Amino acid sequence: MNNEELLNIKDLKVYFPIRKGIFLQTVGYIKAVDGVDLQIKSGENLSVVGESGSGKTTLGKTIVGLIKPTGGKVAYNYNGKSFELFRSVPINVRQSVQMIFQDPFSSLNPRLKIVDTLKEALEIRKMFRTKREMIDYLGTLLEKVGLKREYLYRYPHEFSGGQRQRISIVRAISVKPKFIVLDEPTSSLDVSVQAQVINLLKELQRELNLTYFFITHNVAIAKYIGQKIAVMYLGKIVEINDSENLINSPFHPYTRLLLSAVVEPKIEHEKEIKVGGEPPSPVNVPSGCRFHTRCPFAMKICEEVEPDLVEYGGAFVACHLYSKERTKQIEKS
Ligand code: SF4
Repeated sequence: MNNEELLNIKDLKVYFPIRKGIFLQTVGYIKAVDGVDLQIKSGENLSVVGESGSGKTTLGKTIVGLIKPTGGKVAYNYNGKSFELFRSVPINVRQSVQMIFQDPFSSLNPRLKIVDTLKEALEIRKMFRTKREMIDYLGTLLEKVGLKREYLYRYPHEFSGGQRQRISIVRAISVKPKFIVLDEPTSSLDVSVQAQVINLLKELQRELNLTYFFITHNVAIAKYIGQKIAVMYLGKIVEINDSENLINSPFHPYTRLLLSAVVEPKIEHEKEIKVGGEPPSPVNVPSGCRFHTRCPFAMKICEEVEPDLVEYGGAFVACHLYSKERTKQIEKS
């Protein structure tokens, strides 16, 4: 792993057992993440888009070490050394990766004043010699995200959703992370504050030299934040490309349908993307290409053979329309 490479994900699988009966026998698995390969370079933000249930959140939680993988590997590079974050790792490595969740209220303890929530992580790390230095630092961070210093002494219920998400952002950046996974951080906010929070995140990313793994339903936000976009379907990445190219010339039929479902992409309208028809259950993943039950271009091979993620036209695409064999066939005919 070179120093530029921050994250190397190889054949990552996360299966959740379905248990039934009085002895809770395992009767099947929810295949939330099912063979994901991804590389993220330092400073290169990646946005992940897909419908609900595509496995985006599970992927994000597994990356930060909240979920242990069933198979494969997530290697995180910290100063040239590789770590798996679901294992025990040094506190400075652990804190260099943060996650910001969709619902800022559930991620703040309602019984603690903001200062008490924020200082926990700093105290573990012993980042300050005196309490006064720490309070001053937290006050400065609150101001950086557009809040007042005195808010440190208030409780979460005294804030609006947008303010609470700003506080969650302060908590994440206070430990000076390198990498942040953001799971639809604006989707529970009022339309009027979504764009403000997105702009704040963008500014902080530049100023603090952060790398984002940004999970979103919103293609406009995905493009605004990420240099690259990965499209996820039923636990797999089906296409990755530079944001501009992915939006202007999508290859995978699912990416095309996903983009056509967005009439006019706007940052301040974080709505769930809907493609025609229901996605199959991750318990019974279709054979071959898992999109074949909804794909308007499905061929015989699609029902039988799972397409690999291959390089095509500057993108990586998992679709038989772009596999080498298929390209040769088309060239011959
Ligand atoms: Fe459609 Fe076949 Fe491509 Fe899957 S592999 S997206 S079914 S054309």
